[in-house]
Amino acid sequence: MTSPDTEPHSLYAAREPVFPKRVKGNFRTLKWWLLALMLGAYYIAPWIRWDRGPALPDQAVLLDLANRRFFFFMIEIWPHEFYFVAGLLIMAGLGLFLFTSAAGRVWCGYACPQTVWTDLMILVERWVEGDRNARLRLHRQKWDAEKLRKRAMKWTLWFLIGLATGGAWVFYFTDAPTLMMNLLTGQAHPIAYTTIGVLTATTFLFGGFFREQVCIYACPWPRIQAAMMDEDTLTIGYRDWRGEPRGKQNVAGNGDCIDCMACVNVCPMGIDIRNGQQLACITCGLCIDACNDMMDKIGKPRDLIGYMALTDETRERAGQPPKSVWKHVFRPRTVLYTVLWSAVGIALVVALFMRSDIDINVTPVRNPTFVTLSDGTIRNAYTIRLRNKLGEAHDFKISETSGAELTLHVEAADDNVVTVPANETLSIRVYLEAAPDSPAAGAHRTDVTLWVSDAQGTARVSHDTVFNGKGE
Ligand code: SF4
Ligand code: SF4
Repeated sequence: MTSPDTEPHSLYAAREPVFPKRVKGNFRTLKWWLLALMLGAYYIAPWIRWDRGPALPDQAVLLDLANRRFFFFMIEIWPHEFYFVAGLLIMAGLGLFLFTSAAGRVWCGYACPQTVWTDLMILVERWVEGDRNARLRLHRQKWDAEKLRKRAMKWTLWFLIGLATGGAWVFYFTDAPTLMMNLLTGQAHPIAYTTIGVLTATTFLFGGFFREQVCIYACPWPRIQAAMMDEDTLTIGYRDWRGEPRGKQNVAGNGDCIDCMACVNVCPMGIDIRNGQQLACITCGLCIDACNDMMDKIGKPRDLIGYMALTDETRERAGQPPKSVWKHVFRPRTVLYTVLWSAVGIALVVALFMRSDIDINVTPVRNPTFVTLSDGTIRNAYTIRLRNKLGEAHDFKISETSGAELTLHVEAADDNVVTVPANETLSIRVYLEAAPDSPAAGAHRTDVTLWVSDAQGTARVSHDTVFNGKGE
């Protein structure tokens, strides 16, 4: 006989399916609005047109990988301007720090794609199978015609959502109407079909089946966020000093919690917030809506479950009122994050408006640093990469300024004028020459500025470089 102490304990706990109940309230309404806004923007954005002239694509939001360009309405980011993308990522990170330190896991509860798509999948599930009790009953009943029909319908709708999600993603990388035609006629690139297939499958599985397990077991964010929260961070908690001992209403000695389980039944993570703050809680606020509804029904004050900070808990237990929300939101930590976030944002906006419509890179040819021509002239060669961001083909004049008497020649160009097609980069070979006995020919190095000016005089840029002489 095996003694209970020696029986092996499994470290694996089977998943208990979660069937969140429908709930109405302020947080649920806010979440519906955010869901509509975010999913609407995601699905619609690739179809918005934006006229940039004949030489550029007319898709408002486009990651043009083939031409290494990113378009966002009137903004066009070139590969050498990647610092804009880096700046936006820094702003996104600082924004996440700011919101987490002020109001806990608001990202998880309201904006994370896992939360948003899971919400959508649950909405479809509820529409097909009914609310919590009906879904529980269907889950437990054997596979009969009704269960087969409802499951098939639900999975088909989930699959279509997944397909729309994967489809929308690939439209961000090329002209959406053209790609749609190619996809429908089987002429799109295999990568497009593969990407759609992978994203359809992940959306279907992650949003439909894995749901809360992704947040609890797969996502690192719940573990990291604790470093950004402190005792003044607002998060969702249960006022046990008011609710306990829980039990029947109107029984002497009982607290306000009537143990109706409404807060547990609506929770998409399947947890009981009355057990205290938990890693699984994504602070979606639905338990607040459920409990407030119940408090209204039994005529008790709202916010038995609500947003509060640890400092509020201490104060309320001591019979003092909680601090105002603003005192929690405006703290040195959040002010610092806001200042940093604003500084990066302002720097990006300034950089955006100070960009020139033409842009050059100058690379001196250093092998050899100079050549001596048959008449003793010293020649240096340079490669100029000239980007024309003006939206139409333009002529550009290349010139130099220096303290020395140098002569400039542009290879295969009359009068040192080159034509650069719209939104293209041209590689140009430029030569600077110093007469045999000139100071620049004998000097080791002479500072030079190379200039590129638009023939219409609308734009002019320069680049400092050096002319290498014999150095005698
Ligand atoms: S406990 Fe409340 S706030 Fe936390 S996940 Fe569940 S319903 Fe959302
Ligand atoms: S909804 Fe409110 S009253 Fe009902 S069990 Fe939860 S905390 Fe108690």
